[in-house]
Amino acid sequence: MQQEVGENINYLELISDRLNSFTESQTIAMTVKTRELKAQGINVINLSLGELDFNTPDHVKAAGKKAIDDNYSHYPPVAGYDDLRKAIVQKFKRENNLDFSVEQIVVSTGAKHSIMNVILCLVNANDEVILPVPYWLSYIEMVKFAGGKPVLIPSTIDTDFKITPQQIENAITSRTKIFLFSSPSNPSGSLYNSEELQAFARVFARHKHVMIMSDEIYEHINFIGKHQSIGQFKEIRNQLIIVNGVSKGYAMTGWRIGYIAAPQWLAKACTKLQSQFTSAASSISQMAATGALNGDNSFTNEIREILHKRRDLMIDLLKDVTGFRTNIPQGAFYFFADIKYYFGKSDGKTIINNDKDFCLFLLNDAHVAIVGGSSFGSPDYIRISYATPDYNLIEAVKRIKASLKKLV
Ligand code: PLP
Repeated sequence: MQQEVGENINYLELISDRLNSFTESQTIAMTVKTRELKAQGINVINLSLGELDFNTPDHVKAAGKKAIDDNYSHYPPVAGYDDLRKAIVQKFKRENNLDFSVEQIVVSTGAKHSIMNVILCLVNANDEVILPVPYWLSYIEMVKFAGGKPVLIPSTIDTDFKITPQQIENAITSRTKIFLFSSPSNPSGSLYNSEELQAFARVFARHKHVMIMSDEIYEHINFIGKHQSIGQFKEIRNQLIIVNGVSKGYAMTGWRIGYIAAPQWLAKACTKLQSQFTSAASSISQMAATGALNGDNSFTNEIREILHKRRDLMIDLLKDVTGFRTNIPQGAFYFFADIKYYFGKSDGKTIINNDKDFCLFLLNDAHVAIVGGSSFGSPDYIRISYATPDYNLIEAVKRIKASLKKLV
């Protein structure tokens, strides 16, 4: 092991304050613990993942293989190959009825990278970024990393984890730079309908200095019908940034391709930033993503149906778990269950004081990995991912029920 404390120096002190202010992703921390238990031969069921259990479809793999054979081994243009950017423009037209030019598209190394680019391009010290709670855990860290101030709008299960236009109105100040949200949402699985988005758009139309970053990475995992984007409302067109990618809809998490559609001035800024940090996203992955976007949507439709059935199975399974309160998520692949019933209870050894204690208890006792809601700004909840086959879900809930009986 690398020595951290030398003769006269503690090397860990060399780590920058910037990094020390960063909270390590809890989902990753749970995955590390899960791996440790698995290494001991324990069968851990992992319901903490934000990644589907499907492999990339064959036609997309073929596009990646062809790119290797065709020598796509050189630096691509920083904002992405024109073919991919055109495929993205066409995707927006075909699926969302939105018009963008190629110059408005920037391809990055995953949607996560796209979001960070935008934040770094827009946020000065103490600028405010409004985040509805529960938020995707990386949003808040990115805002803090950029020196910005997260402004949180709370929501609970009683409103299906949705916020109101009035709450947005109240949160906006002259320092607000960005409103950042995901619909369908990670972690709640909630999604906003067209009327709700229209009401949001009316608020933003009165506050032209606020950019709206709409993270639509779960667009294709929607169980109630056509995806609705806030981008459909013309009055906010100049303030609109749509984030999307191929990770979720095409089971391509490892390929690392995400993108934004934004006003040209901002697309240019993101390209400038990216040119000094990462350059373009991987050439092979870009070609595979082009294959995904230009191909038909049968794979995406298939996984949506499977996830819909799993969602229904989970509704059935979870309703019998004492002390869990859940809503009916309409998209993504998560349940965000209220578990505060268990706070203060104990198995005789450990007292459950918070969501982290609760998740650790389930990991150690039921060998089921789940992420605590505090990572998403809502400590009374846990996020249960159902990106795993039915037999695992059935077994996991059985184990959870048995373990929870020990808590009194
Ligand atoms: N946005 C949300 C809401 C997510 O849940 C995720 C991944 O979990 C991402 C963005 C990042 O996607 P990518 O794999 O393209 O970086």
